[in-house]
Amino acid sequence: MKHSLAPASTIRARLTTQLADPIPMRRGSLTERFVKCSRPGCACARDPKARHGPYVSLTRSLAGTTRTRLIDPALAETVRRQIEVGRQFRDATDLYWAACERLADAEIETLTAPAAPGEKGGSVPRSRPRWRGKSRPS
Ligand SMILES: [Zn+2]
Repeated sequence: MKHSLAPASTIRARLTTQLADPIPMRRGSLTERFVKCSRPGCACARDPKARHGPYVSLTRSLAGTTRTRLIDPALAETVRRQIEVGRQFRDATDLYWAACERLADAEIETLTAPAAPGEKGGSVPRSRPRWRGKSRPS
């Protein structure tokens, strides 16, 4: 989903709703695995459909380390939803940052624009600055 052209009012509404109170959401991803055991004669060794599981694990990167924890399969849907809510929140904060940085750029340009003689302030430039190098697709 592309949000980059969302109006500021939409971004503001989304963020104020989501920041008003903490809600259940999380970062990370879920993996579901079916595994083979080492029990002699167990069907899982030859039949992929007889493998054990699902084993659901939640993986999350935190300060350079990866943390994994097992999740009760019955709770997988709930955790998946929490992750989705977290993803939407992250999208909204990305938009918020983009809006803030546009304002920050505009402020810088206002301060560095040469003022015409006899004119104070001047208008806010309409064009966005061009960055060198690769820009992240938004
Ligand atoms: Zn087995």
